[in-house]
Amino acid sequence: MPKIMQGKNGVILGVANNKSIAWQIAKKLLEEGANIGYTYQDEESSKKALSLFAKNDAVFTCKLDVCADDDFTALNKKIEENFAGKLDFVVHSIAGGPSLEDLQGDFYNVSRHNFLKSMEISAYSFAAILRNLAPYMKAAESASAICLSYLGSERVVPNYNVMGVAKAALECSARYMASDLGRDNIRVNIVSPGPILTRAASGVGGFRQMLKEFAEKTPLQKPVNTEDVASAAMFLLSELSAGITGQTLFVDNGFNIR
Ligand code: NAD
Repeated sequence: MPKIMQGKNGVILGVANNKSIAWQIAKKLLEEGANIGYTYQDEESSKKALSLFAKNDAVFTCKLDVCADDDFTALNKKIEENFAGKLDFVVHSIAGGPSLEDLQGDFYNVSRHNFLKSMEISAYSFAAILRNLAPYMKAAESASAICLSYLGSERVVPNYNVMGVAKAALECSARYMASDLGRDNIRVNIVSPGPILTRAASGVGGFRQMLKEFAEKTPLQKPVNTEDVASAAMFLLSELSAGITGQTLFVDNGFNIR
């Protein structure tokens, strides 16, 4: 049987280590034949990611801090050199900005600086990356981009605070971009997993308690499996979802309906 992503070229942003959701998605795409270039935030915080890339046939790696405009130019060059300027998929799996204090207690204590930083890294960066990569995605016959969000974008989840506000902006940006880019056969969707213990998640106050209680409250009565998240991501990145754009796909064992 042909592999679902055979010959597809893509970029994944947001691998920090082997627990990262982005890495689980990468593994699934590699199994299905994709060619992947990876970005990483900086050498210091991405040592584990860089060793994963080296062991797993990365087509290229590129430093990209989403707050640094020059890094975007470096990524363009890598895509032109390695993928002949044609890009079939993009995974945006990035969140950051708040301090540990912002992720506990009351939302309204957030400072102006941390509010704006959270918006820049966790929401604006998706528009920045797609604006930069759209010319390469247009060069492909069809292309697909996803970002990662969380239910805290639409419900008040204790301690998620400013990240919930940023995720609301991220999801809304994804819908606007789905509308903008649809004419070029570029689809833009959102994957919204339930809680998974990763480096970013461990900063949210009471996260381990939330994980403990989560399984009991879901219709499927089990914790979120990262492989299930990766399968859903691959579905949205592949031609299997050719008629779907601007949507949020929850991979949370049904938690959001209760
Ligand atoms: P993670 O810590 O493994 O990944 C977060 C990534 O963001 C890291 O690779 C980090 O380097 C990157 N990043 C932060 N600031 C950056 C910057 N300025 N420039 C470039 N990269 C930057 O954690 P994760 O849980 O895998 O998070 C991935 C995505 O999934 C995030 O958008 C997160 O909000 C979302 N998500 C996570 C959960 C969960 O429970 N873990 C649930 C729903 C959604």
